[in-house]
This record gives sequence, C-alpha cells and structure tokens, in this order.
Amino acid sequence: MAATPTPRPLTVLTGPSGVGKGTLVQLLRQRHPQLWLSVSATTRAPRPGEQEGVHYFFHSPASFDALVEGGGLLEWARFAGNGYGTPRAAVEERLARGIPVLLEIELEGARQVRRHCPEAFQVFVRPPSLEELERRIRGRGTDSEEAIVRRLARAEEELTAEPEFDAVVVNHELPQAVAELEQLMGLGACRTDGTA
Ligand code: ADP
Ligand code: 5GP
Repeated sequence: MAATPTPRPLTVLTGPSGVGKGTLVQLLRQRHPQLWLSVSATTRAPRPGEQEGVHYFFHSPASFDALVEGGGLLEWARFAGNGYGTPRAAVEERLARGIPVLLEIELEGARQVRRHCPEAFQVFVRPPSLEELERRIRGRGTDSEEAIVRRLARAEEELTAEPEFDAVVVNHELPQAVAELEQLMGLGACRTDGTA
C-alpha cells in the first residue's frame, strides 16, 4: 500500500503474541512522541517492571467484567486465559482532539474495531517464520511453559487472518519494520527525535 502524507487518525496493530508488536510500538513512540498509545485494561498479572496506568490498567476479573458490562471498553477479548480491552473514553477524547491514536491489540479485538470503526487503519504484523516466533516468545522469558503453548496455538490461528488487514508488515529486521510502519501510518514527515 502507498505511503499516506498525513498521520492516520486511528491505527490498529495486530499480530501474534511475541511477533514484536510491543518492541515496534516502543520504537515508534520514541520517534513520534505525538502518537498516543492506548493503555489497555487487563486481568493479566503485571510482568516485572510493568506499571499500573503505563503498561496496562490491571483489573480483577470482577472489575474487568464491570467495565465490559458498563460499556466502558471500545473492544475486548479473552487471550491466553485473561481479559484485555481498550478503554473507550480515552480513545474518543484523543480522536476528538486530532491526536493520532494507536491500538496494539489481538485479532478478535481488531475485528470488533473493524465493525465499529471501519475507518480505522488495520496493520497485521507477521513473524518471518513460526520457528522464529517461538524463539522470540521463549527468548522474552516472561511466560510459563503453559502460556507459551497457548500463545503459539493462538498464533497459528491468528496468522490465517492476515488477508483481512489493510496492510502487512513482516517483522524481520526491526529498523525496516519500523520504517514500513512509519510510511503506512503517515508518520514519515514528522519525526522529532532527530534520527534518520
Ligand atoms: P509482542 O508485543 O508482539 O508480544 P514483543 O515486543 O514482546 O512482542 O517481542 C517479543 C520478543 O522478540 C522480545 O524479546 C523482543 O526483544 C524480540 N523481538 C522483537 N522484534 C524482533 C526482531 N525484529 N528481531 C529479533 N527479535 C525481536
Ligand atoms: P500481553 O499479555 O503479551 O501483554 O498481551 C497479549 C495479547 O493481548 C497481545 O496480542 C496484545 O496485543 C493483546 N492486547 C493487549 N491489549 C489489548 C486490548 O486492549 N484488547 C485486545 N483485544 N487485545 C489486547
């Protein structure tokens, strides 16, 4: 797909767990501080170093269910035994102010966003191979063996959804994948960190 000259208002980044979405998003945010990343609600326990309100809003199953029932989430899904969802109000507020919004979410959530916000730009991030994906999940060292098995099974399923997306980025080498995302998201002309 051709590069877009202005930042896209709402971009959804999806791809199997361990493919490198978090890493790519971190690099994008360093290079484009104007980009706002939605902080999701989850019932997953914090990983070492993860902070409330920065990486996630950590909820008990009961308070997550209350969010869902109260319509507080733009989309939500269960993933590897936990609930994950995008707080609606914060996204709507940024969009109203013209701030480019990025959601980094799994497949079911991306499908819900596609139904409710068809104007959102949806990017699928693919690993170079399933073997490399497994290496990355294991190398990250944050998941139990049981969680790894669940994440890999889910990954195989998610990879078949690639054709549903507006664009596909293969995360082989990080610099190239970031550059492709910048082009697709219309961020190319407004980098502020001085890097090439
Ligand atoms: P996700 O957010 O999709 O679950 P992460 O960003 O946590 O994935 O990345 C999973 C692991 O893969 C991390 O250890 C990360 O450093 C590594 N990784 C990410 N991108 C690449 C890449 N292009 N090449 C090699 N390793 C990568
Ligand atoms: P992790 O536990 O590795 O942080 O995230 C697991 C999966 O949940 C990842 O694929 C991530 O993209 C997805 N995820 C994170 N936040 C949300 C969210 O708000 N909604 C949905 N649907 N998925 C999310």
